[in-house]
Amino acid sequence: MADTGDLLQQLRQMVAAKGAGLYGGEPITQEQHALQCAQLAEDEGAPQHLVVAALLHDIGHLLERDFEAAMDRGEDRFHENLGDTFLKQWFGPEVTEPVRLHVAAKRYLCATDPDYFAKLSPASVHTLKIQGGPMSQDEVRDFESNPSYADAVRLRIWDDKGKDPEMKTADLEHFLTHVKACAA
Ligand code: FE
Repeated sequence: MADTGDLLQQLRQMVAAKGAGLYGGEPITQEQHALQCAQLAEDEGAPQHLVVAALLHDIGHLLERDFEAAMDRGEDRFHENLGDTFLKQWFGPEVTEPVRLHVAAKRYLCATDPDYFAKLSPASVHTLKIQGGPMSQDEVRDFESNPSYADAVRLRIWDDKGKDPEMKTADLEHFLTHVKACAA
């Protein structure tokens, strides 16, 4: 595993450089979205690995040069895979799998929960199309066979809720203590 101090430095730098960018068509920044998802996980008493996964689930967006422009062009840059590859340097599957599967979890919920689709934001409906639409029955069965699927679904729910311009959260340094503990 790579050095944890290095990870914390990289995360601080990424957030300083790109965290103020808007979160894919929502009225909040990338940093606010990450902090809100982590706060929602912590408020629910989720295990530490899931608080960390919630904080870092969209790290692929910060690693990617121009994902906003790509989304506008209707291209999927598979930010979940970029994030998975990056995070594997420090974390095991309990963190990386929910991150890798958080987009699939949206397609899963759209196929299995009729109320879910109705509540998606317009930006999220737009990306759903780019991401392949609701899962087929075969894909649903496949997805449920992954040991991290339930964690990925929990992460997805926080992901969808963490778009509130008014929400108060702890700061980045607070959540980095979880990152440090989890990566150690
Ligand atoms: Fe997200």
